[in-house]
Amino acid sequence: MKAEHKNTIIALGTGTSTGIPMIGCSCTVCTSLDHRDQRLRTSIYVETESGKKFLVDTTPDLRTQFLKNKISDVDFVIVTHSHADHLHGIDDLRPLTFNPNKIEIPIYTDKTTTGILQRRFDYIFRKPDPKKSVLGGGLPRLTVHTVPLDKKITIQGEAFYFFQYPHGHGSTMGFIHRSKSSTLAYIVDCMELPEAVLKTLEEMKINLLIIDCLKRGTHTTHLTVDRTFQYIKRIKPERAGLIHMSHDLFHTELERLARAEFGKNVFPLYDELKMTY
Ligand SMILES: [Zn+2]
Ligand SMILES: [Zn+2]
Repeated sequence: MKAEHKNTIIALGTGTSTGIPMIGCSCTVCTSLDHRDQRLRTSIYVETESGKKFLVDTTPDLRTQFLKNKISDVDFVIVTHSHADHLHGIDDLRPLTFNPNKIEIPIYTDKTTTGILQRRFDYIFRKPDPKKSVLGGGLPRLTVHTVPLDKKITIQGEAFYFFQYPHGHGSTMGFIHRSKSSTLAYIVDCMELPEAVLKTLEEMKINLLIIDCLKRGTHTTHLTVDRTFQYIKRIKPERAGLIHMSHDLFHTELERLARAEFGKNVFPLYDELKMTY
């Protein structure tokens, strides 16, 4: 009998940087009545089979995402890259650290993003001045840690493998999370996947792949439908969920495109969708 899948994943947001609807836009997707066409900024929340809870990215919609999904606890955070739509909700982690018994929440990211976090949010990451007492509600108690790339590592007992790929003028950090029963791969904000990363993904036998799929046509910094589908064919996951969509795509339309190519196992994600893997 097949082992029971026990990792739970919630799609906190599935939209591109503007969120959908986009401010000031009255296109048919932005005004759609289908709730699956309303997309907050891209992020996922995972509760692993051993009970660890991790968040991927801190979007400007973080507060709404946590309230809507009744989330009030995070053991660690992974930050994929430093773009505003993935990071600038970082202060909304603050209430999670109000509990005096909770030690700081660690953030794991690559070397470049570690430096950017320390500079952009110096008020969070610089050492507190012992001469100044904490006033008001204080700062979010967070620490930042650089992860090694292209090797297996463990974070709080969870097995990860981090890798990098180009995204515009910079890069994004993707990851594989491996548990006893299943393997998840997460690839957002991707221009292309290097051959070595594709090989690793093939070898690791991915059960659930979550992958960038911005729009149809082409784009200078993101995967678009054709390229996303090519990669899914190459990586051959059991299931694939599409994420980071723009207002170029209705949910139902992308669902149709994916089904025609792959059947039911490849599908667009939508906000608040909860799955197990
Ligand atoms: Zn993005
Ligand atoms: Zn980005």
